[in-house]
Amino acid sequence: MDNEIKQYFDVVIIGAGLSGIGAAYHIQKKCPRKTYTILEGRSDIGGTWDLFRYPGIRSDSDMYTLGFSFNPWEDAKAIADGPAILQYIKDTAQKFGIAPHIRFNHRVIAANWSDAEKMWTLHIEPQNRVICCRFLVSCTGYYNYEHGYEPTFAGSESFAGTIIHPQKWDDKLQYADKKVVIIGSGATAVTLVPEMAKKAAHVVMLQRSPTYIVNLPSKDKIANLFRQKLPSKVAYQLARWKNILLSMLFYQIARRAPNVFKRMVRKGIQKELGTDYDLRHFDPQYQPWDQRLCLVPDSDLFKALRQNKAEIVTDTIERFTPKGILLKSGRELEADIIVTATGLQLQMLGGLDMRVNNETRPARDIYCYRGTMFSDIPNFAIAIGYTNASWTLKCDLNCHYITRILNYMDKKGYQVCTPRFDSQRFKPEPLLNFNSGYVLRSIDEMPRQASAAPWKMHQNYLRDSLSLRYGTVDDAYLQYQ
Ligand SMILES: Cc1cc2nc3c(=O)[nH]c(=O)nc-3n(C[C@H](O)[C@H](O)[C@H](O)COP(=O)(O)OP(=O)(O)OC[C@H]3O[C@@H](n4cnc5c(N)ncnc54)[C@H](O)[C@@H]3O)c2cc1C
Repeated sequence: MDNEIKQYFDVVIIGAGLSGIGAAYHIQKKCPRKTYTILEGRSDIGGTWDLFRYPGIRSDSDMYTLGFSFNPWEDAKAIADGPAILQYIKDTAQKFGIAPHIRFNHRVIAANWSDAEKMWTLHIEPQNRVICCRFLVSCTGYYNYEHGYEPTFAGSESFAGTIIHPQKWDDKLQYADKKVVIIGSGATAVTLVPEMAKKAAHVVMLQRSPTYIVNLPSKDKIANLFRQKLPSKVAYQLARWKNILLSMLFYQIARRAPNVFKRMVRKGIQKELGTDYDLRHFDPQYQPWDQRLCLVPDSDLFKALRQNKAEIVTDTIERFTPKGILLKSGRELEADIIVTATGLQLQMLGGLDMRVNNETRPARDIYCYRGTMFSDIPNFAIAIGYTNASWTLKCDLNCHYITRILNYMDKKGYQVCTPRFDSQRFKPEPLLNFNSGYVLRSIDEMPRQASAAPWKMHQNYLRDSLSLRYGTVDDAYLQYQ
């Protein structure tokens, strides 16, 4: 590169979302002598919580577990609005002195590890810059920031109204008194329906197949009681542990006794919508937690359905028409606005080109070690979170492990740490144990896990906590130099 500016850091973190800020905190606290920087491709902090701007954007897990382990979530609402989460991330970065370490508009397009130099070289756009580091931490999330999953629908060019994807929301879109059809049944659709129904003439949630939907109060009474009676940090840790354990319990019930779980969900729906409501719209064809559950805070979706401001239609799209959407059943849904809440496009490592000694390794040959590092990729760690609980719970544990590795290397005088997979002993498995569309669409482009520890992602906080906080950092699969 011409006129390139070269800089060196001990650790580079890519991404200034929840995981990147969390990683920075752990590194500066537990490895205080290490120099580090955060490279963020966008012009602001927050990742997901800065990107998504659709009406009603909110978390679908509680902030006691989605929030940082080290900075209490103080808001009374546990299921929080997007802007409040964004502010919390910004406040945390300021409070812990992380903000000055972030370099915005630094998109990492390529990363190459050199065995000779024992170092990563990162190429940055649009800056004509090269940054080198000893250890690389990817906190780039799991989806493509440029665009969501946007399937083509026959006849879409003939539709006379507006088509919009939630990832590219336009603040100027006026939907008051308009007829809206939202295509999708995931968290985004379930969030958008009640929010848009507040102003729209009518909202239809058009789903091909239903999702498990569970109602919860947005305010956690027990956590708020803890906050009134106890010091902030104690209250937060108690609420966090309560919710970790409760979510583990419900997950276990869902997996081990799916029929009990299905009955619980069905009862909840009937309580909200009455026994006459057509339960077909809430009866998924898959087992609980084969895909992520959808959470409805304070019955908002059910209220909109009860008040006839919104309707759920389970059907398949034949084609778009000038007036709306023609369904396979023959019904035509009229619309002024169609929202394609069709999901995310999965993407690992923020799309960067990763090489070792200038060679690319196919994703299918890479195995994830303790859900934290990659086989045969030296001095590299990644924030991959939970699919059955708050994503960030696992990212936080990964940081404990990374800092332990870094300190161990310093103590022993090592410069390189590389996980080595043993293909004779372990059977490959897909990285994510989900059959959601966005996972299945990209399964071949993702690294893999294997059938047993330490190459298996257990999706279990207690187990991971023991392994990553207290387990060995020097086993048969970690090669140090
Ligand atoms: C609408 C929505 C709601 C969600 N709600 C929840 C929830 O309630 N609970 C939950 O557990 N999960 C939820 N998730 C998943 C959510 O993304 C994560 O929990 C969390 O925000 C992930 O944080 P992160 O820092 O790992 O990734 P992100 O928030 O995705 O941040 C990644 C950052 O890396 C940057 N980046 C990426 N590639 C590069 C590159 N090559 N160079 C430089 N920078 C790069 C991005 O610009 C971004 O700032 C939600 C996701 C969406 C889309």
